[in-house]
Amino acid sequence: MSQPALLEALLKLAGTYPSFAIERGQPVVDLLWQQERVAGVQLRDGRQLPADLVVGCDGRGSLVRQKAGLTLQSSPSPIDLLWFQLASPAASPLAGSFTTLVGPEGVFSAFESASGGLQLGWVMGKSQATPELSREGWIERMAALSPPQLAAWLREWSGGLGPPSRLTVQVGLAERWCQPGLLLLGDAAHPMGPVRAQGINMALRDAWVAARRLLPLLSSGCSGAALDGVAVQIEAERRPEITDMQTLQAAEAARGEQLRQQGWLRGALAIAAPLVGPAIAAHWSQQQQSLRQGLAPLPGPP
Ligand SMILES: Cc1cc2nc3c(=O)[nH]c(=O)nc-3n(C[C@H](O)[C@H](O)[C@H](O)COP(=O)(O)OP(=O)(O)OC[C@H]3O[C@@H](n4cnc5c(N)ncnc54)[C@H](O)[C@@H]3O)c2cc1C
Repeated sequence: MSQPALLEALLKLAGTYPSFAIERGQPVVDLLWQQERVAGVQLRDGRQLPADLVVGCDGRGSLVRQKAGLTLQSSPSPIDLLWFQLASPAASPLAGSFTTLVGPEGVFSAFESASGGLQLGWVMGKSQATPELSREGWIERMAALSPPQLAAWLREWSGGLGPPSRLTVQVGLAERWCQPGLLLLGDAAHPMGPVRAQGINMALRDAWVAARRLLPLLSSGCSGAALDGVAVQIEAERRPEITDMQTLQAAEAARGEQLRQQGWLRGALAIAAPLVGPAIAAHWSQQQQSLRQGLAPLPGPP
């Protein structure tokens, strides 16, 4: 789904609560401290917002995490992604499937975008320079790996292909997600790998668990140590799924890396695809069940 549309819908809903406020264009530049306890945030315009609990959801480069001195243990990734949007008014032949295409020229993934058209991710070695190809050059490279129907569709809508943006893959896990007065959630606590696109899923699951645990306390006016205790519980509840998911992603990435490095294997698979392709796809999907669905059952509403 479209992230901006979802976020705007959530903001509209949140705006119906009298205690809700949003500051656009005012990033947090520092934390406020009371001895060892985080006691709020400072905005760029100098205003200070005191808080019983700061929840840092500021993404993989989290300033909140850095200012709190919480270390991120990063796992090296051998790959980067080149990210493309291909705008088109016509439905693609993918029919809703997240599809990875493998052949002698390389590996890329394609899936439908909420705003129409496709998102395309071309896998690159980290040390590889971004190829300087024209729009048509990229379309031909992708079409060469695609089955005839998709290749024809790519060529027909080639005019909608935007330039690639290089996405640095960053995978990591903060040593701790909380300290007195502070809780990290989402990418701030655990930047996810791109395999099976689990970053948003995991961030939403964190938010759900945090809301479920924090709301009863905040509604009854608790602060200080009570909130800190719950922040520790939230981390304990969420950390196992994140470590398991990152382990699964790493195993899948290693298999993908083997394919990426072995041109002969990609070539052999492409030749054998008409015969054994459906069986390999079914087996691979089966192995990815947890990666696709998530691992932990979510608790019910508060
Ligand atoms: C190109 C790309 C494509 C991706 N595609 C997918 C996908 O298809 N599916 C998927 O599941 N995941 C995808 N991901 C990963 C996904 O975007 C993240 O895992 C997910 O958004 C994490 O959510 P989050 O809320 O923790 O952080 P983010 O979505 O990164 O949100 C962090 C927010 O904090 C704000 N912020 C940052 N610093 C400050 C500050 N100092 N003060 C105030 N605000 C601040 C940012 O502006 C941002 O709004 C993709 C990532 C990239 C880069």
